[in-house]
Amino acid sequence: MRIDLHTHSHHSDGTDSPAVLMVRAAAAGLDVVALTDHDTTAGWDEAADQVARTGVALVPGAELSCMVAGVSVHLLSLLHADDDAALLGEMEHARSSRNTRAREMVRRIAEDLPLTWADVQDQAGPDATIGRPHIADALVARGHVPDRSAAFENIVATGGPYYVGHYAQEAHAAIGRVRAAGGVPILAHPRAGARGRTIGDAVIADLAGAGLAGLEVDHRDHTEADRAHLRGLARELDLLVTGASDYHGTGKHNRLGEHTTSPEVLEAIEAKARGRIIRPDDTHLTRYS
Ligand code: AMP
Ligand code: ZN
Ligand code: FE
Ligand code: FE
Repeated sequence: MRIDLHTHSHHSDGTDSPAVLMVRAAAAGLDVVALTDHDTTAGWDEAADQVARTGVALVPGAELSCMVAGVSVHLLSLLHADDDAALLGEMEHARSSRNTRAREMVRRIAEDLPLTWADVQDQAGPDATIGRPHIADALVARGHVPDRSAAFENIVATGGPYYVGHYAQEAHAAIGRVRAAGGVPILAHPRAGARGRTIGDAVIADLAGAGLAGLEVDHRDHTEADRAHLRGLARELDLLVTGASDYHGTGKHNRLGEHTTSPEVLEAIEAKARGRIIRPDDTHLTRYS
């Protein structure tokens, strides 16, 4: 069983449609994939429609923008209910704030370089959660930088001259909301230092006390030392250990299935959740619960 629990489609800052992502997951030899777009579940239906055809099971999820101890963190929510008002409200708040923030960043950049809001929209899927990657892609299309990574090194860098923050829910509260919606909260790439500041073990322990279920350990932004450390911490705090690609299509180098999660851990995740994994032999009338 090959299981990848963190991927993005063009509903956020990935470049594949959910359907194409499912086809590519099959081609990559995956048996199970989680769709975890930033602050949106808009891709779930299209991905679920491909389960029978591709033979790849779907874990519906999302990657929630959160703040804790003054640090931006990402929380994977797996198998939560698609109609939970509190969670939907927070995701909508984050998305609209991301939109306002992206417009402001474009306004600031445009004072120095030719760039329009339409350029950014050209890089985003329908109703996508707009992020800095879309601005980076627009800068590439305009010929201002050679690729996305180059844009992240200066023009759209965190703390750079054009950087603007956005609303993100508080992480302890987010964990509570995910749990209340029947989902399983897993801290994404906890030690990915290239994204900016990261939280320490004491904060992770505190989040575990609030109901965090797992840590994403096997991720390309973690060194071997990070992984060994996080594995120890997970053991200490009785947290599940996951691995995933954080695939973004052509937007990043991450390859589907480059890191995976064990079948035992997936079983434990499903046992904790109220939502269901959509499997190829599924005969349920209701999709997600
Ligand atoms: P945002 O959430 O809009 O602040 O943008 C951050 C997102 O950009 C992250 O979730 C990554 O998916 C992506 N990202 C961060 N750094 C890079 C990079 N160096 N190259 C490409 N994508 C990046
Ligand atoms: Zn992303
Ligand atoms: Fe992330
Ligand atoms: Fe991600």
